[in-house]
Amino acid sequence: MAKIFCVANQKGGVGKTTTTVNLAAGLAKIGQRVLMVDLDPQGNATMGSGVDKRKLELSVYDVLLESASIEEARVQGPKLVEAGCGYDVLGANRDLAGAEVELVDLERRERRLKNAIAKVDDQYDFVLIDCPPSLSMLTLNGLCSAHGVVVPMQCEYFALEGLTDLVNTIKQVKANLNPDLQLIGLLRVMFDPRITLQMQVSDQLKAHFADKVFDTIIPRNVRLAEAPSYGVPGVVFDPASKGAQSFVGFAQEMVQRIQAM
Ligand code: ADP
Ligand code: MG
Repeated sequence: MAKIFCVANQKGGVGKTTTTVNLAAGLAKIGQRVLMVDLDPQGNATMGSGVDKRKLELSVYDVLLESASIEEARVQGPKLVEAGCGYDVLGANRDLAGAEVELVDLERRERRLKNAIAKVDDQYDFVLIDCPPSLSMLTLNGLCSAHGVVVPMQCEYFALEGLTDLVNTIKQVKANLNPDLQLIGLLRVMFDPRITLQMQVSDQLKAHFADKVFDTIIPRNVRLAEAPSYGVPGVVFDPASKGAQSFVGFAQEMVQRIQAM
């Protein structure tokens, strides 16, 4: 049975998609079977996995509306497969923006993704879900499907404030919809140890959240930012870069964490 994780933070531009695709590629690289689900209508995780969102015949939209199964809709990015970091992609594009409205009147609307994943979860070690920057019906589908939430965050002053909202949302979903849901960990991303404030916030995080803070730190690294324009994760684009190596280290840390779960 796969372990299912949402990569979530209601803020935009904090590194969710970068984390999702590089963790997926890092896990694939160390031999794990991975399904990556793009739940953001922007489709950045789809494009960043080497899959053209404009050419998707079926997407996560069809799966949410139960007009297709994950087995029918999943695809792979050829460049990633070639690099030995291939994983399955349940892609997204603008169609998904409509799902929000269409789901409102449907039964079991927040459990659609969960039910679909349940049919394939024996085929994977990990399912990673890239969430949109909101606490919407789409994110709720992600949170209802998952065993845990991985929260990428920049070590900035306001990051701590946003975290309280997210932790409360996780608590509510756990109490009402998904008793399995846990905060797995906080991942410090785009980190620059030369910036004193980032070091201070990092220390505060450890003081408040203790072992919920992952040991791995993802540095600010331009190769990670360049990779999406080549349609691959940084782990594939420049495996020797600091960013890529830290994501492979994070994949190893995740494998260890789930063994302890
Ligand atoms: P989100 O999915 O939360 O909106 P993204 O993963 O798209 O965030 O990241 C926002 C921007 O920051 C993107 O341009 C991405 O390439 C860049 N970025 C993310 N992580 C890093 C990093 N560790 N170093 C440098 N740039 C990064
Ligand atoms: Mg994103």
